[in-house]
Amino acid sequence: MPETHDVVIVGAGPTGIFTAYEIKQRCPDADVIMLDLGPDLEDRRCPAWVTGKCTLCSVCSVMSGFGGAGAFSDGKINISDKVGGSLYEFIPESSLLEIISYVDRLYVKMGAPKKLWGTNVDKISELKRKAYKHGFLLIPYKVRHMGLSGSRKVLSNFKRVLKSLGVEMLFGKRVEHIITKDSRVEGVQIQGDEVIKSKFVVAAPGRVGADWLVKEAKRLSLGVEGGRIDLGVRVEVPAETMREFTDVLYEPKLVYYSKTFDDKVRMFCVNPGGEVITESYWGIVTVNGLSKGDELTENTNFALLVSTKFTEPFENTISYALDIARLANNIAGNQPLIQRLGDLVRGRRSTPNRIKRSIVKPTLEGAVPGDLSFVLPYRYLTDIIETLKALNELMPGIYSGHTLLYGVEIKLHTAKLELSSNLESVKIKGLYAGGDAAGVSRGLLQASASGVIIGRDIASKLMLS
Ligand SMILES: Cc1cc2nc3c(=O)[nH]c(=O)nc-3n(C[C@H](O)[C@H](O)[C@H](O)COP(=O)(O)OP(=O)(O)OC[C@H]3O[C@@H](n4cnc5c(N)ncnc54)[C@H](O)[C@@H]3O)c2cc1C
Repeated sequence: MPETHDVVIVGAGPTGIFTAYEIKQRCPDADVIMLDLGPDLEDRRCPAWVTGKCTLCSVCSVMSGFGGAGAFSDGKINISDKVGGSLYEFIPESSLLEIISYVDRLYVKMGAPKKLWGTNVDKISELKRKAYKHGFLLIPYKVRHMGLSGSRKVLSNFKRVLKSLGVEMLFGKRVEHIITKDSRVEGVQIQGDEVIKSKFVVAAPGRVGADWLVKEAKRLSLGVEGGRIDLGVRVEVPAETMREFTDVLYEPKLVYYSKTFDDKVRMFCVNPGGEVITESYWGIVTVNGLSKGDELTENTNFALLVSTKFTEPFENTISYALDIARLANNIAGNQPLIQRLGDLVRGRRSTPNRIKRSIVKPTLEGAVPGDLSFVLPYRYLTDIIETLKALNELMPGIYSGHTLLYGVEIKLHTAKLELSSNLESVKIKGLYAGGDAAGVSRGLLQASASGVIIGRDIASKLMLS
């Protein structure tokens, strides 16, 4: 190994992958090393997919390893500058659209399907009108759906290409600290006190590394702006209930403002014919969803989450969301809770027998029947129930007593770091942050796009040096 690398990338998710790719495209001799605390792509296995139960692995294969959270994802590439991130706050719209189109083309080059959803303008306009009539904002965009197996194929192609370009990749390496001197980055310290020196460091640790990045940012006195959290449930209904929308858009993204609290409630991450799955954050089990693409179920699931931005003096939104998830785990013996909507509304727990009698058959077998009202604060429950009631006008059947609710689902958007337009820290030269952990993305496309922005900037600096 050379004494000082050109670039160290922390995290092998879409941000890290696109950063490395872009640097090597523009600067083939650059010495780039990518570190991830998780395993290589082929070694990622989630026991819950066999047993239906989360075994709380010390490193969660759903969240960590080559491909990042995206490897076990539904692989919906949401082609929009309006959803899945806030890169529009950093670069002009025209440049962002160019990068988005470039990222999408690259996914297709690596094997993503050519088919696009969300292209029928007339039908979309009709659905928008309908949604508006019932108090919902429908945000349409084009979606390219890779599915689980498609995502794995694309990632395995990316890995092969990165290897052939000479990117060094080390797995099972947890970065503990970012090393700086005189407002300039010098490298990273990994587990076991090993130091890897570099001219540039790219922090792309995703949601699972969000807490770590905020702690590092505070230790290094980088500017950090308080984040918001999305907290709620995963909803599962018969696929037919939502077909009018999913057949046109694949993923109908809807926003609603609850009647009692006027809170913003979002329906997103819709998986037609999909499955509810577990993921874990530092030993806490939460839920998510995906659609394998080639093996469809009879159900569709989606996230129904309430967005909250807390105000002073409260700043640790990550711990708030995790405390609620921990409570759900305590009640359900370290597994996600499941409850029929009818039981929740009647104020009684779901039992194994009641779940057995449900018309909607749960796709997550390991979920434990219980009572979400012992977990979610009144405000969140009220928001969720009101939104489901309103949704029933738009998609009749959603407010059925048999609708399944899994809890809890959280999206940690973390705190936003103070970054310049090229996603470099304004305080520490040579330190970049991108993707979900930096608060600039919430999905594959914008995470990847943030990698392109970072990669292009670092490449231009390397060429000058
Ligand atoms: C089940 C699931 C389904 C999803 N489905 C979709 C979808 O269909 N469409 C969509 O747009 N988005 C989806 N997402 C979200 C999407 O995967 C993320 O937005 C995206 O992966 C974020 O990319 P990232 O590079 O910022 O971070 P990540 O992909 O999270 O990658 C970060 C990597 O950094 C590593 N890391 C963290 N801390 C450290 C450290 N200290 N040292 C070393 N390595 C570290 C982690 O192990 C991880 O591999 C899904 C997510 C999940 C979990």
